[in-house]
Amino acid sequence: MRVYLDNGATTKTDPRVVQEMMPYFTEMYGNTASLHSFGQEAKEAVEKARGFIASFINAQPDEIVFTSGGTESDNIAIQGVARALSTKGKHIITSKIEHPAVLEVCKHLEKEGYDVTYLDVDKHGLVNLEQLEKSIRKDTILVSIMFANNEIGTIQPIKGIGEICRKHGVYFHTDAVQALGKVPVDVKEMKIDLLSGSAHKIHGPKGVGLLYVRKGVKLAPIILGGGHEQGLRSGTTNTPGIVGFAKALELSKEPNNMLELRDRIINELLKIPETILNGHPTQRLPNNVNVCFKYIEGEAILLHLDQAGIAVSTGSACSSLKLQPSHVLTAIGLPPEIAHGSIRITLSKFTTEQEVDYFINNIKRIVHNLRELSPFWKNR
Ligand code: PLP
Repeated sequence: MRVYLDNGATTKTDPRVVQEMMPYFTEMYGNTASLHSFGQEAKEAVEKARGFIASFINAQPDEIVFTSGGTESDNIAIQGVARALSTKGKHIITSKIEHPAVLEVCKHLEKEGYDVTYLDVDKHGLVNLEQLEKSIRKDTILVSIMFANNEIGTIQPIKGIGEICRKHGVYFHTDAVQALGKVPVDVKEMKIDLLSGSAHKIHGPKGVGLLYVRKGVKLAPIILGGGHEQGLRSGTTNTPGIVGFAKALELSKEPNNMLELRDRIINELLKIPETILNGHPTQRLPNNVNVCFKYIEGEAILLHLDQAGIAVSTGSACSSLKLQPSHVLTAIGLPPEIAHGSIRITLSKFTTEQEVDYFINNIKRIVHNLRELSPFWKNR
């Protein structure tokens, strides 16, 4: 049996998405910028997808910019605001648990003279709204806080953050790559100015993303060329990808039992002694489980699960000879020795009860066996 429980990394493309995309590879392959009928039929498909995606998040079609993925959307948003508003100020606020697509951009901007505040999070991974408001200064130009965390699944109080930013006249960008298509997103109600999304996390194709840019928000383009996407993202339009993204979002509305299966996994794993649930107990993504098994290594668990045909991920990145606990687990206050025992299980709408049972039986066996071999477990 092969069981894929790493849907936070990427997902299987839904066959219905592939079917929707196919004609735009084989028949309607024109360039959307071309004036002939080949180009115009491709353009029509892209504009139809744009309209659907816009309404999905309560935006206007001309507020959607298509990109090559979440990473590019984060870059265009943060660097774009930084460049456009540098005369107004050079202060940016973000959190310590952002994806590298945000953190690395912020670090890069620091080298160029921007000042970045990295907000702490609590033990569940939540930012503190009071601390956020206190951090806003006269020269603050942007707040970038993720909608939901990719490792521990915690969903931030997005509407509260949006209200604070709007009150102080500061742009609010949110990386919604893990949230879009899984939890309700309403850019107007939540007072979001910029939002990043990606198709491959919701059974769409890899290599296509979106950036919502509220009308009136000033952005300087960082990719220059033919002036596509209102000059914000030059490059020939990825028609099949965009059509697939819209279809994937449409299908994300289908009922599924991820939440029920997620809670079943959490309940079963917490029956294993010395196990901690990471992230918020309730304000979390419907498909995310992240746990630490004390006294053993997440990497060892991952490899044993892989032998049983099960794919999960860990919170440790193996860099050369030393294992580094993830910046997210560190930020929620886990000591390295506990963080090293973490694994992330991420479900999809295709995950079945049988797969979950198979996983639970295997993880119980593996944790038990690894602990039997662990001197730390014996001497605890
Ligand atoms: N932001 C978050 C929160 C993510 O989880 C990811 C993907 O892992 C990204 C950004 C990057 O998205 P993409 O893979 O589409 O570049």
